[in-house]
Amino acid sequence: MSERNLLITGASRGIGAATARLAAGRGWNVAINYHRDQASAEAVAADVRAMGRRALVVQADVADEAQIEAMFAAVDAGLGPLHGLVNNAGVVDVAARVEGMSAQRLQRMWATNLSGSVLCAREAVRRMSTRRGGAGGSIVNLSSAAARVGSPGLYLDYSMSKAAIDHFTTGLAREVAAEGIRVNAVRPGIIATDIHATSGHAERLANSLSLIPLGRLGTAEEVAESIVWLLSDAAAYVTGALLDVAGGR
Ligand code: NAP
Repeated sequence: MSERNLLITGASRGIGAATARLAAGRGWNVAINYHRDQASAEAVAADVRAMGRRALVVQADVADEAQIEAMFAAVDAGLGPLHGLVNNAGVVDVAARVEGMSAQRLQRMWATNLSGSVLCAREAVRRMSTRRGGAGGSIVNLSSAAARVGSPGLYLDYSMSKAAIDHFTTGLAREVAAEGIRVNAVRPGIIATDIHATSGHAERLANSLSLIPLGRLGTAEEVAESIVWLLSDAAAYVTGALLDVAGGR
């Protein structure tokens, strides 16, 4: 296989970091985006390099268009032509009902989880579309099982952002299908990562087992398997798919 370059947003920790390590093992060079945790991003890069692949660490807040543009320019210069994008960076907020949600909270949620993914996909399509001289490629968006269940009383705003990601995946897949680009989404269930602690409701993990038919939390590595498969040529006839990795939930 000729060299293939992948950008993963939010790859310093959790699902993004697991995806970077697995993708490197399957032959991808990886650009590792992070927001604040540079040390964790550098540790992921060291693991990628130890597997004989090239790694680039690039800081950017995906809620900021100028920072996204600078990140893609850094990947162009540091890795070369892009063949894959994983729109993984995402946030939740503290548990709240709708009557407790501020405009500021909603703005951050839409800017990070939704606009960030759309703008990163825009930059990737500009580079990968055969209509624009690119070689084609693959985009995987991180949705969530929350897009189906709504997360009432917890974070309906987050669920809405992920439902919009589902819609975006369906539409963009059709928009660029004839241009060599496949677009899919993975919808994880409850996965054991930092996201629950940083949002102030880590106890939800222990209380969630009864909701999961398979009877356990998922791992970041299990989600990474589905992402890396969707990126690969083994999934060449898969586009517009919303793949649940949620233990049956
Ligand atoms: P996580 O452990 O909290 O890691 C989040 C990652 O995103 C970190 O690398 C973080 O960077 C980065 N990030 C956060 N805000 C960012 C921003 N504004 N710009 C750039 N990077 C940013 O999260 P996770 O659990 O792995 O979740 C990854 C994705 O899966 C998210 O889209 C999430 O919604 C989705 N998901 C997760 C679950 C779950 O149960 N864990 C379930 C369904 C869907 P720093 O390290 O620099 O802070």
